[in-house]
Amino acid sequence: MDKSSPIASLLEWLDASPTPVHVVQTSVNQLMVSGFIEQIDFSSDLLLKGFYRKDGAIIAWSLGDNGAPLRIIGAHTDSPNLRVQPQPDISRMGWNQLGIEIYGGVLLNSWLDRDLGIAGRVFSSDGEEVFFHHSQPIARVPQLAIHLDREIGERGLQLDKFQHTSPVWGTQAPMFLDWLTQETGVQRIASFDAHLFDVTPASVLGVDGSLLASGRLDNQLSCWAAVEALCTTDSQYTTVVILNDHEEVGSESVTGAAGPMLENLLALISHRDGLRPGQLMDRQRQSWCLSADNAHAVHPNYLERHDPRHSPLPNHGVALKLNGNQRYATSPRGAAHMRGVADSMNVPLQTFVSRNNMPCGSTIGPITSTRLGIEAIDIGVPQLSMHSAREMCGVKDATDLVTLMQGFLRS
Ligand code: ZN
Repeated sequence: MDKSSPIASLLEWLDASPTPVHVVQTSVNQLMVSGFIEQIDFSSDLLLKGFYRKDGAIIAWSLGDNGAPLRIIGAHTDSPNLRVQPQPDISRMGWNQLGIEIYGGVLLNSWLDRDLGIAGRVFSSDGEEVFFHHSQPIARVPQLAIHLDREIGERGLQLDKFQHTSPVWGTQAPMFLDWLTQETGVQRIASFDAHLFDVTPASVLGVDGSLLASGRLDNQLSCWAAVEALCTTDSQYTTVVILNDHEEVGSESVTGAAGPMLENLLALISHRDGLRPGQLMDRQRQSWCLSADNAHAVHPNYLERHDPRHSPLPNHGVALKLNGNQRYATSPRGAAHMRGVADSMNVPLQTFVSRNNMPCGSTIGPITSTRLGIEAIDIGVPQLSMHSAREMCGVKDATDLVTLMQGFLRS
């Protein structure tokens, strides 16, 4: 593959970003290449092109003229996974294992018999923070042999979340903290955040090369596209990208969409622009927020799980997500706006509605519009295997998402 192609940059992004803090670091690298500067001190003036990072979340902006309406894109950095517990060492019958915590709605079966690496960060007792990313296979959750589980064919795989999920990581393994000390060079580790991940690199798939497989496509695909679009679009508007953590567990944290990061930035922008309350309301009305999070493509083996008239197909465009019960934020006005954007950029747009008897998940869209009074539009690339350790989507839909976001930031 051409190393400078957008898909090559997406694959590289995914492999470099096994955890939310790594997603933030990957975003920072890309933003800095495009001239964005990190703002640390907010008592001075807001930078024209800046970003602010906190743990697994980042917000980046490019200011338009005073009072310019806002074009905001939001996505989330976290994905369901297995995380190492604070006191993880287990030794049983010659096997060394790690105690883990299940984060978010994991498809547990997909983590079995995979070669796993470990990544995250440590804090020393004097507050030093060091990231680590061990991409060699060092752990594995082994499945029980069929000979010891004869009924599996009839009753299906049943996993106890406590008993059956601990990975093996050696037969003469060091204590986990000793390994972390070695790995990071930090001598007095006071706490850590360590996530397991499949070490198989992201790859293009299919005899026709039309598909893409990787862990964490939900929702790093949207994070990648949002940063890509922000870095490549000149706009008359003030453009903002916010990548939040903790969406998979309800968004309620300092770095989640229900936290204050976006609201704080908008307050600073309004202050810079010297807007009175009425002008603020006018700007809210003229602004849009695009909430990007992957959608369900129609599954060819489970057609009955989809609404037949609203089933997104692979490589037929990004899906506009609608839900009258407000699980998605898209209003009729927002849908019309987005269809106009898609037309102007010459990319297709599909429509996703979940079946009445299959309630859909939610996104950061409704949370953001409720908090800010800015109308949000939910969209997402259709994918299969959502929340699996390895997910799949169409190559063309990924690049279409960037084009659509570029159009959104300008329209
Ligand atoms: Zn998601």
